[in-house]
Order: sequence, then C-alpha cells, then structure tokens
Amino acid sequence: MERTHSPSQLTQEYNIVVGMEVHAQLLTKTKMFCRCSADYQGASPNTHTCPVCLGLPGALPVINRAAVEATIRTGLALNCEIAETAVFARKNYHYPDLPKGYQISQYELPLCRNGWVEIDLPDGGAKRIRIHRAHLEEDTGKNTHAGMHTLVDLNRAGMPLLEIVTEADIASTEEAYAFLTKLRTILRYLGVNSGNMEEGALRCEPNISIRTAEQAARDEFGTKVEVKNLNSLRAVRNAIAYEAERQADTLQSGGVIEQVNMGWDENRQRTVLQRAKESSEDYRYFPEPDLPPLVINRAWVEEIARALPELPDAKERRYRHEWALRPIDARTITGEKRVADYFEAAVAAYGLENGKPQRMANWITDELFRLLYADGEGQDLRQITDTQVQPDQLAALAQMVDTRSITANTGKKVLESMYRSGDDPQAIVEREGLAMVSSTSVIDAAVQAAFDNNPDELTRYRNGEKKLFGFFMGQMMRATKGKVDPQAARQRLQEMLDSGNSIRN
Ligand SMILES: [Zn+2]
Repeated sequence: MERTHSPSQLTQEYNIVVGMEVHAQLLTKTKMFCRCSADYQGASPNTHTCPVCLGLPGALPVINRAAVEATIRTGLALNCEIAETAVFARKNYHYPDLPKGYQISQYELPLCRNGWVEIDLPDGGAKRIRIHRAHLEEDTGKNTHAGMHTLVDLNRAGMPLLEIVTEADIASTEEAYAFLTKLRTILRYLGVNSGNMEEGALRCEPNISIRTAEQAARDEFGTKVEVKNLNSLRAVRNAIAYEAERQADTLQSGGVIEQVNMGWDENRQRTVLQRAKESSEDYRYFPEPDLPPLVINRAWVEEIARALPELPDAKERRYRHEWALRPIDARTITGEKRVADYFEAAVAAYGLENGKPQRMANWITDELFRLLYADGEGQDLRQITDTQVQPDQLAALAQMVDTRSITANTGKKVLESMYRSGDDPQAIVEREGLAMVSSTSVIDAAVQAAFDNNPDELTRYRNGEKKLFGFFMGQMMRATKGKVDPQAARQRLQEMLDSGNSIRN
C-alpha cells in the first residue's frame, strides 16, 4: 500500500514551494577525470581506482569528452543555453569518501543554464518547470558503516555526475512527481542515464519551503529545508508532503523554520535532522587550477543538436495527431522509450491505415502489459524488450484477428501462448487447431447442443426472459473453445431461439 500524506488544514493555509536538485550518473565508459572503468557495479571495493580518482599527489585530471557531450545533449533537450565557456571549480569539503578533500564541480560558469521542462497538470493543463542550471561534477566514493568502523569504497569516486537544478517552480507533491517522471523519461530517451533510482543512478534532493498567499504576493519565500538523497519517486512525494506539514505545524505553534539538511526515514515516513546546512561560502569555491576553462565549440553543439532523438513530448504529439492515438495511450507508450520503440517496430510491421496504430496500442497496453504485470515485470515496463513476443509476431497476431482467421478471444489466448513460448502465432494456431470456425453446420450443431443441454433456460427464454441470450452465447463459445465466428454464431443463435421450431424432445 502506498502511504501518502493528505494535506492537513494547516497546509491549506500555505503554498508549497519546491526547488529540485537532481544528480544523474552519466552512462560513460570511463570516469570523469581518469580512464578508470565506470562499470563498477558488483566489482570488489576499490578495484576501479587509479592515482587520479584516489587523489594521490601529483596526479592530474583530464576531462572526459563523452561526459561533456552527454551534458550538452541533456542541456539541449532541457531547452537550456549552452555556455561558450564553462569553468570547473574546486568545492572544498572534508569527508572520508572524498580522498582529494575537494570535489571538482562547476560553480559560477556551468555548462547549461536557463532551460525548462514541461509537465502535465492533473487538470489537463501544462506547466513549465524552469531549469536554473545543469552542470558537470564528479561523484564521491561510498561509506559503509560496520559497527565501530567505516569502510570506504572509492569505485564510485570520480564518476561523472550531472547536477540539474530547477527554479522553485514546483508547487505540489503531484508537480514534483510529474517533473521527476518527465525528467527521468527524457534522460532515458537521451541514453545519458539509466534512470534507476533504487541503484542511486538518479538521486533527488528537494528544497522545501512554505509561504502564505500574502508572502507569495510580495514575492517572499519561507525558509527552505533540503531533504538529501531521496532514491524513489514515492520517497520524494512523501518527504515533500511530510515536510510541508511539519513546517506548517511549526509556524502555527509559533516556532521558526531553520535552514537545515534533513534525511528521509523510510520506515517512520518522516524527515530527520542531518546537519546544519553549509552555505556556499563554506565550500570556498575557486577555479580548478589543474583544468583549463572548457571552451565549447559551437559547431559541436549544433552537431549534437542535430543528432538529438525525438523526445517524449514530440513523440506523444505525433502519435496523437498523425497516428490518431487516444491521449492516454500516447502518454503511456511514450513514457518509456523502450515501449515506444517496441510500439513503433510493431506498427511498422502491421501498418498505419484504418486505425491500425490504435489497435496495436490496444494489444500492447491491454494484453501485453497484462501479461507483464502478471509476471511481476510490469513494475518496470522497460521489461517489454525482454519478452519473447517480438514486435513483428504481435503484428502478425493482430493481422490474424483482423482477417478473421481467429476470433478476438482466441487471439488473446494465442498471445499468452506466444508470451510463454516465443512461438509464431501461425504455428500456435495450427498446432492447437484454433482457427476460427464459420461453418454453418458446426455453428448449428453448437446451438442445438446448447438447447439440448439447457431445456429449462430455453423455455424461460421463450417465455420472455430475453437476457438469457448471453447465457446461450456463453454455452456455445465454451463448447467450441471460443473458435466459432462470434458474429455468425450470434446471428444463428438469434434465428434459432426465435424460430421456436428447433426444440427436440
Ligand atoms: Zn581513476
């Protein structure tokens, strides 16, 4: 069960104001400033390290071009301005998982600024969440606390990290959820991040404050509290709701909100104080002396822009307006790039005429998703690419139903069989004798058998209980394993019920 906090009386007197910082691990082959392999998941601790990411004296960083390109791609997709010159900066702080004693980040001159992401609102409208900046930095290592000791693994140290910072434009838990979902979808479309929040590849830190309508009119903000390192959409939603309510309670009882960092206690579903928040002065930023300013060639930016894939919003519009898809299906299918890719491959095999894309969408969102969910895979619809049912096989199945070689009901059963075996639908229909039966003699025999087996119902029908039509239809379909042409069967059943002369005693 999902636990969400409903806004109390108190929070209704305040508006929620949220800005979001998102950290996305970039899918590069090597780390940000060295040649260590970035593929460290599952590796023994401290095996993906070198003098650069261990922070040994004299080791010099070299900028990873692929990480810069991924950041520019993302910046363009988020409608940002791409800097002419970006400057790496040293962010000084001491932590066991940061061997150099500083993190290389970008401060005054980030790579990307002033963008936006459009989200859909529950009332059907849309809203732009402005992106303040997006910049490149390196990840820290990972501490594991074991009793009295802390173990440090530096495999993650120096991994390229894209930090995306929004303006304080998010006004509810729903908007926060919509923003993160959309951002994650875009990052996956771009292929720059796995979107896997559970593994920490995408981490989120909302800045949460509340204010009254009068404060909002004066453009004033409340004191903000940052909740660190949330790693699920649900945690983000619940943390914002909880924190807004806590702040409202504090203010109502005459208290003061302090600017602090909080953590999220998943078990108790509440925020907990971590440490007083550092201000940027505490970090003593200065330009990284070991790296030159990063001058971005305009021709390169244009080349990256031309190579951008079709993004989810554009794809959704195309599905709706050119392929006449229902809005809900267009939204669902474009929500995951792998589902959209699967859908497009199936439509390519099936065809575009006469509402075919919508029919294919139905096969996928109704039938295939049902099987994925039953398998427990539907939590992550990207698993669609792991099913045995290939897009062209699904198209062939849809074609067989369209041409009435099998009934729609048989089609669903054949799909289940395809899902389990990976076999072609034609082979399954042939092997299991599932072809649609339209023969009049077979249908007549099935009607007659239904009458013979249910004389009481037949009498009741003929005495006016017309709703028993469905009962007889069901009997016939069951007896023929759903293979008879339902249209022909319905017509023949009606004729024989109404003629009254087919009763045999
Ligand atoms: Zn290294």
